[in-house]
Amino acid sequence: MIKKEKIKMPVQEPEKRVKNFEEVELGFTEEQALEEASRCLQCKNPKCVEGCPVKVQIPEFIKLICEKKYDAAAKKIKETNSLPAVCGRVCPQESQCEGKCVLGKKGEPVSIGRLERFAADNEKTVYIPEIKKNNVKVAVVGSGPGGLTAASALAQKGYSVTAFEALNKAGGVLTYGIPEFRLPKKIVEKECDYISQLGVNIKCNYVIGKIYTIDDLIKKGYKAIFMANGAGLPKFLNISGENFIGVYSANEFLTRVNLMKSYKFPEYDTPIDVGKNVAVFGGGNVAMDACRCAKRLGAENVYCVYRRSKIEMPARAEEIKHAEEEGIIFNYLTNPIKFTGDSNDRVTGVECIKMELGEPDASGRRKPVEIKDSNFFMNIDTAIIAIGQSSNPIAVENQPDIKTNKWGYIIANEITGETSKLGVYAGGDIVTGAATVILAMGAGLNAAKYIDEYIQKNNS
Ligand code: FAD
Ligand code: SF4
Repeated sequence: MIKKEKIKMPVQEPEKRVKNFEEVELGFTEEQALEEASRCLQCKNPKCVEGCPVKVQIPEFIKLICEKKYDAAAKKIKETNSLPAVCGRVCPQESQCEGKCVLGKKGEPVSIGRLERFAADNEKTVYIPEIKKNNVKVAVVGSGPGGLTAASALAQKGYSVTAFEALNKAGGVLTYGIPEFRLPKKIVEKECDYISQLGVNIKCNYVIGKIYTIDDLIKKGYKAIFMANGAGLPKFLNISGENFIGVYSANEFLTRVNLMKSYKFPEYDTPIDVGKNVAVFGGGNVAMDACRCAKRLGAENVYCVYRRSKIEMPARAEEIKHAEEEGIIFNYLTNPIKFTGDSNDRVTGVECIKMELGEPDASGRRKPVEIKDSNFFMNIDTAIIAIGQSSNPIAVENQPDIKTNKWGYIIANEITGETSKLGVYAGGDIVTGAATVILAMGAGLNAAKYIDEYIQKNNS
């Protein structure tokens, strides 16, 4: 008889975890993984695979776990997914593979993500396939999940791939955005190392658009280019006082915490003092990460200020639950109007107004409308703005032949990734706007296939 519920995964208790940056979810033990894997029905027509943007052969890797062949399980996943330990931790499985699992009809789906994490974490001998090199050069711009996936797929097809990364470390949002307690950086490093071992040359501190333009790369002999430079430009509230000291964009705040390791100050030379009261504006995963980091940095009260209600929040349900358990205070239906500061231009507070929900807007969600004369004031020491990101124009600003839309995102074919410039492909957040790790990976995998076809056709 198959159990209706998933096997629970051990987690750090909230009172303990708010005092450290160690991983919250601790992963299955072997016994738990075997019990959970045994719930899988090994469907002949597995719906779960349809829900996976990179088409991981889910029942096959779960079967290998049941047989205790963990290296083989990891190898099976890596046939289409080079970042299994990352995806097992941060993918929204509930709306993808697990959302389609047949067991979900009458009970809880198989914990596919947690089993993927188990297989990746328990891989003892990493399998590196033998690759026949063809000496054709391909460039990738950006080393986030989209760029890394395209790079590893192309390297496995024999291409000499160089991934140019603007920051001093590879990984994109996985490294500078998602906090250590959700995705330990040693996991990201391990998976980046695997991609390097496949032959990908990751060159950090290379801002494409400044050091080299796309045309320079073509002149240097790169036969095709995949642009996966993400959506890393923060959006602001555009209200008075936003320039006060202590008002951060979530990008800056999370980069300081994660990439520059301010939570380990003074071991790392990046001071950050959030004070007692912190307000984070926004309701997505980025806002949840910012709230939970602020709490761990010692803030007494962390307010998540969101202009709609809980049901409309775009953050994953699990992240909201974790934030609630950690004592984050949610101020729903609230919008900031202006920041106040002291004589040193340091933020001291924020004036807000209460909102109510009106008719649905273009996003299909009910539009928040101000309630007249409902203004109130909050004393704060730090404000973090997490209302979204947009495209960073640097990579294409000198390249008018790569067409962008009105928001600056690169226009690319949804399936092939082709842009308006021959031989230049794009995918991930720089095309779709801020989305998810696995969607960027799916775009990278698809583009690799079409880049290969394009080179085969034009290079013979
Ligand atoms: P990115 O990951 O943004 O990588 C782009 C890379 O390109 C960066 O490293 C950047 O430095 C580099 N770059 C930019 N310009 C240049 C240039 N000119 N030259 C060279 N390099 C350049 N998704 C999930 O699925 N689950 C989550 O839990 C989740 N949490 C998130 C938390 C945060 C804080 C954030 C910000 C996002 C989160 N997301 C999550 C979204 C997810 O991380 C992104 O959708 C995904 O990383 C997009 O991948 P990408 O490869 O397109 O871009
Ligand atoms: Fe297993 Fe669910 Fe996939 Fe069927 S749909 S193979 S039960 S994970």
